[in-house]
Amino acid sequence: MSNRVHQGHFARKRFGQNFLHDEFIIESIVAAIQPKAEQALVEIGPGLAALTIPVSKCVEHLSVIEIDRDLASRLLENPLLNHKITVIEQDALTYDFNQLYTQHGKSLRVFGNLPYNISTPLMFHLFKFADKIADMHFMLQKEVVTRLVAAPNSKDYGRLSVMAQYYCQIIPVLEVPPTSFKPAPKVDSAVVKLIPYKNKPYIVNDIKILSRLTTEAFNQRRKTIRNSLSNMFTIEQLTELNIDPNLRAENLTVEQYCLLANAWK
Ligand code: SAM
Repeated sequence: MSNRVHQGHFARKRFGQNFLHDEFIIESIVAAIQPKAEQALVEIGPGLAALTIPVSKCVEHLSVIEIDRDLASRLLENPLLNHKITVIEQDALTYDFNQLYTQHGKSLRVFGNLPYNISTPLMFHLFKFADKIADMHFMLQKEVVTRLVAAPNSKDYGRLSVMAQYYCQIIPVLEVPPTSFKPAPKVDSAVVKLIPYKNKPYIVNDIKILSRLTTEAFNQRRKTIRNSLSNMFTIEQLTELNIDPNLRAENLTVEQYCLLANAWK
């Protein structure tokens, strides 16, 4: 039988379908999430319900967002689940998470074994709703978790690190080998917990400016910021802000990026 067939479903590459089948890993993820009865749990990409079923046992109700129509129907037909889940058959990248927040009247606890092809844009989409989210547990490519937690002065520190660390406290949870999935992906995976700050350590007045600044800086990460940020700041302005114009994008802290974003006119 093809290694792409799992529980009678042919795994679709375009939806990043790698299904978890390792009971130990599944239990470890659910233990990390610690779902409680009255909480507003939301799963992105429930697939064949490897995480959905154990989480649903802990809660009164669970909302799931699944793009694959066949999988969405299977979830609704599953007698273990259909009495307590709401299936939102949609692309999570375009879903307005305010709707779930309003429905539940409480902060959301989001989790999922994310399709790797969209995990970074999906996290950026979720950051827009950070004030409506209590926490997020995600399975990602290990390399993405390394970038999420990277500190300045390292090759892994980039735009994702700055933007994620601006919004969230980030805690790596566990590493997961390819053999825990069917079909097995080519890369190692890891679970990470992101907790949006209630009180951010640094605040920017306009997030779009921080976003533009980090894009311009890291798009030319080998250049010094006097060059890469020359469309936004003069050498004198950088010096006045106590930021050395000869630094490169990877040398600036999140605090310095926030300082620059607030100084831009
Ligand atoms: N949660 C399951 C597991 O752990 O076995 C499946 C994980 S699989 C890596 C990713 C899941 O996300 C699939 O069910 C896939 O159909 C779904 N998916 C892919 N792109 C999506 C999107 N844009 N919005 C919502 N779900 C998506």
